[in-house]
Amino acid sequence: MATSVPTQPAYPTDGGCIFCKIVAGQIPCYKVYEDAQMLAFLDIGPIVAGHTLLIPKGHYASILDVPEAVSAALGAVLPRLARAVCAAAGVAACHVLTNAGAEASQSVGHLHYHILPRRAGDGYHLPWPAGKVTPERAAELVRQISAQMR
Ligand code: AMP
Repeated sequence: MATSVPTQPAYPTDGGCIFCKIVAGQIPCYKVYEDAQMLAFLDIGPIVAGHTLLIPKGHYASILDVPEAVSAALGAVLPRLARAVCAAAGVAACHVLTNAGAEASQSVGHLHYHILPRRAGDGYHLPWPAGKVTPERAAELVRQISAQMR
């Protein structure tokens, strides 16, 4: 008699991760897009109406951990999803952002991109004041970062 063998997903999972549970269908979401590698759904605590999250189905803690191929697949979906979110919200502007690490305000340890449609006067402000960098410090930073890229 034939028996069914449970299939394992072709990507890493973390049983304690809330987004992995959404991918596995163990908890619900307001799904707006899905393909073999990606899932997009409405943020449960929207900062603005239409606030949408795009995640890889595989569990990677943040953009600091994701393999290039998965990141490329995310990048292929992001512009189309951002256009769809903006069109649905009736706006022409949005933020696309990802937080990586607790110090950068990441609260869910499964890579996700926020898409936040923006409209004039929506009252949401990023307190992100511009600083200054000396030529010497800039040169040092260029040396350090480009060395890491080799
Ligand atoms: P971050 O602070 O960048 O890690 O963002 C995590 C986001 O996930 C927050 O905006 C939360 O509102 C959102 N979030 C957490 N749990 C859920 C869930 N079950 N469904 C949808 N969004 C969620």
